[in-house]
Amino acid sequence: MKIAFIGLGNMGGGMAANLAKAGHEIRAFDLADTALAAARENGCRTFSDAKEAVAGVDAVVSMLPNGAIVKAVYGNDVIGHAPQGAVFLDCSTIDVASAREVIAQAEAGGYAMVDAPVSGGIAAANGGTLTFMVGGTDEAFIRAKPVLEAMGKAVIHAGQAGNGQAAKICNNMLLGIHMIGTCEAFTMAQKLGLDPQTFYDISSVSSGQCWSMTSYCPLPGVGPQSPADSGYQGGFATGLMLKDLKLAMDAAAIAGVDPKMGARAKELYEAFDASGNSTVDFSGIIRTMGEG
Ligand code: NAD
Repeated sequence: MKIAFIGLGNMGGGMAANLAKAGHEIRAFDLADTALAAARENGCRTFSDAKEAVAGVDAVVSMLPNGAIVKAVYGNDVIGHAPQGAVFLDCSTIDVASAREVIAQAEAGGYAMVDAPVSGGIAAANGGTLTFMVGGTDEAFIRAKPVLEAMGKAVIHAGQAGNGQAAKICNNMLLGIHMIGTCEAFTMAQKLGLDPQTFYDISSVSSGQCWSMTSYCPLPGVGPQSPADSGYQGGFATGLMLKDLKLAMDAAAIAGVDPKMGARAKELYEAFDASGNSTVDFSGIIRTMGEG
């Protein structure tokens, strides 16, 4: 397939490379020259204009920072410029309302489009092991699926347009809450005189068990390898967790629900981010605990 890829950053760079590796012809565009140079090294053809990149393609994939940029890119450079009938896949994490707006605009212009945000970080993007949660019509999903399968290990249809984003922010709100809870439990266990490994051995096979504990333990030397073992570098940056919690709170307001734990997780990550930890892995919040 001929595929335009827009947004070749930390995530998009590896995703575009995997599409090229799978034999697709990739027409790549990014505002940053360094991203374009890396894409060329990974077998993509690069363009200095998004409109040129989408000319003659079967599909457009985007991996961009936020909803305003996604709306601008599709509104100005993709809709009306890609061939009629092309399928669009926005893999960025953005707000549900923007996702639905862009998809409605694309459909009105004669295109099929899905929102397909991902679970998994830079390593999964590079390794082609992302999970995609996809919102859109059955027809759009069927057309998008083979493209997503070349970049991931799981592709799940979440229902109507915007539902991929809804699944993503609900999942990440739960992740933020679980991580804080896991950090608090380990901190308290230690203060009460429990060896952290002993607490892990007990809790990881008891009812407190969760992914933040057994796959991503916030304490170094406990559980499988995680960013805690590398000084809380790499992994999922606090700034990105905060972005997702803000999207979750915006969505909650629109949905008329009041997730108190989610709101508190957002406040705690806001404070951690503001104290110079935006690029630190989100499990590093454990360092703020245990005093007082
Ligand atoms: P990034 O900042 O590394 O990459 C974004 C890229 O988009 C940059 O290269 C930038 O130059 C480009 N860009 C910005 N505006 C553009 C425009 N108008 N036209 C073309 N290119 C433009 O960000 P990232 O970490 O790759 O994240 C991308 C998306 O993936 C975000 O929505 C993020 O929330 C989501 N995400 C990231 C991770 C992660 O671990 N990094 C995990 C899951 C989801």
